[in-house]
Amino acid sequence: MPSAVAGPEIERLIQLLARLPGLGPRSARRAALHLIKKRELLMAPLAAALETAMEKIEICKVCGNIDTQNPCTVCTDTRRDASIIVVVADVADLWALERAHAVNGCYHVLGGTLSPLDGVGPQDLTIDSLISRAHETHVKEVILALNATVDGQTTAHYITELLQDANVKVTRLAHGVPIGGELDYLDEGTLAAAIKQRTLF
Ligand code: ZN
Repeated sequence: MPSAVAGPEIERLIQLLARLPGLGPRSARRAALHLIKKRELLMAPLAAALETAMEKIEICKVCGNIDTQNPCTVCTDTRRDASIIVVVADVADLWALERAHAVNGCYHVLGGTLSPLDGVGPQDLTIDSLISRAHETHVKEVILALNATVDGQTTAHYITELLQDANVKVTRLAHGVPIGGELDYLDEGTLAAAIKQRTLF
């Protein structure tokens, strides 16, 4: 067991940073050192930002997004098309779609996907509130922006069944060739899906 190179306070900082996704112990040590060197410029504002976030962050009661206001910034933005609900598994997916400026609709965060193996059932997700939102008269389309995995697609099918009597168009993301993708490198499943869902040129 190597002895610690720094006092317990710094070791604790490193340990906590190492728990962040994408940071192992080595990069956590580098990050900690960087923070310590930039104490005034970075560490103090970061500590303040973390404290504010801790106090103010809430889960949006309408869509499940994370924000410091409730309903969230997305839900209260009147320039958005409220007739479109984009269904995502996680807040990270919502943020990814927003970064891509992919759609100007509203969202619904499920909080995961159905996964019988992991014991995740419909009651663990916000499916009930999605179904009632989809029945509101102004809603015209529900876009299922779920992962192209078995769990993601199972969830999409389950929701589609429940939405049958709602007066909405239910759509899902296309499967196919990624932008800049070379056919030779694609797996057979993706290639087959891309051919099946070909569009008119
Ligand atoms: Zn919201």
